[in-house]
Amino acid sequence: MSIEDFRADAMRCSRCAYCKWMPLDLMKSWRFSKGCPSIEYGNFHSYSAGGRLITALSLMDGRSTVTDKVRDTVFMCNMCGSCDVSCKICRYDMEPLQAMRELRVKLVEEGHLPAALAKCVESLKTNHNMLGAPKERRGDWAKTLGIKDLSREKAKVVFHAGCRYSFDGEQSGVARTAVAILKKAGVDFGIFGATESCCGGRSYGMGLNDPVKHCAETNLAKWHAAGVETVVTPCADCYYAFKRLYPQVAGSQIKVLHMVELVEQLVRDGQLKLTKPVTMKVTYHDPCHLGRQGEDYVPWNGKEKKIFGQAVCYDPPRPRYNGAFGVYEAPRSLLQSIPGVELVEMERNREAAWCCGAGGGAREAYPKFSQWTAGERIEEAEATGADALVSACPWCEKNFSDSVRHGGHKLKVFDILQLVEQAL
Ligand code: SF4
Ligand code: SF4
Repeated sequence: MSIEDFRADAMRCSRCAYCKWMPLDLMKSWRFSKGCPSIEYGNFHSYSAGGRLITALSLMDGRSTVTDKVRDTVFMCNMCGSCDVSCKICRYDMEPLQAMRELRVKLVEEGHLPAALAKCVESLKTNHNMLGAPKERRGDWAKTLGIKDLSREKAKVVFHAGCRYSFDGEQSGVARTAVAILKKAGVDFGIFGATESCCGGRSYGMGLNDPVKHCAETNLAKWHAAGVETVVTPCADCYYAFKRLYPQVAGSQIKVLHMVELVEQLVRDGQLKLTKPVTMKVTYHDPCHLGRQGEDYVPWNGKEKKIFGQAVCYDPPRPRYNGAFGVYEAPRSLLQSIPGVELVEMERNREAAWCCGAGGGAREAYPKFSQWTAGERIEEAEATGADALVSACPWCEKNFSDSVRHGGHKLKVFDILQLVEQAL
């Protein structure tokens, strides 16, 4: 794919600006009715999906060039996909999110990758993670846990901790919690520990093509050699990479589960019993890559056609990803099965959820924007009266925890697995 493949989308964009808002029929108040963090923060049309389609057309036609400002309008975006969901409600067959990513690819190929993101990509090459951490430290979080090492042993299930839970000392406890839950349920699983590699998903969102392909081929070769049939991860970004990107870039057919899906199933099957009360009012944040972008990959090798030389269509029709079939019920059902937990919803939830601000390289390249985005979500969570904001992704938790700390908020931030562990 290239940005040229989305020329028709850019031409057909009606400039309606619906992509700036959450779906109209789901709005509950003016305060929490916006959908796009980028336009809300940037406050200029170019910071919206529709605006970027105009930028793409202009660049493709040679009517403008990439200045620093243009680069910022393209990259100061969380790639969260809220715009994509809203656009598809009023327009059929448009793919603004994919188009925006291909616009990034174009800029990267022309040498305009923001410096902070170039550093992440360099770290991916040298250390197999994007956090700049030494690769030797990757398995430290699990050293004393006595887990099967799949670089030497075999198992049908691999637990993939992901970079943030592997390297961030403040967060590694969640990976250990996940392992304790799997052991308690009697799941036969292993890890790659020090030889685990990044999923590559975040580099894809930043606008690079090669790293995710390399990561996919590396991870799949290791999984196959160890007899792995199912990969389980507590990270929404890894989940998206394994489920949506690996089939696309490396023909993966491996089964992919997020920990919330597996744990919810184990609770439903009676293999885990949540008996201890956790008296808390919580609200759940849908990670973008588990929710609206967590739908199954559908292969498509069709062609763009014109009817009577005019109306563009796709033959066969392109798969329609509109966020409706993401992972929404498993985390909610899991929370509701914990005695004492009261679940209340934020106004923007499921496919209309507001982003945490950490995606698309925003946390690394535009930290003020990223933290402002998280702060908006914290205010929305507080408006529910909840004691805690619960999520299922280390990137969301990191951004929220930073925001709560810097803003002096009382709200607690948890990964859903931490509440499960308390209830066991
Ligand atoms: S991208 Fe979609 S929602 Fe946004 S202005 Fe264009 S047609 Fe409207
Ligand atoms: S991906 Fe998210 S931040 Fe980027 S334009 Fe769409 S709604 Fe805005």
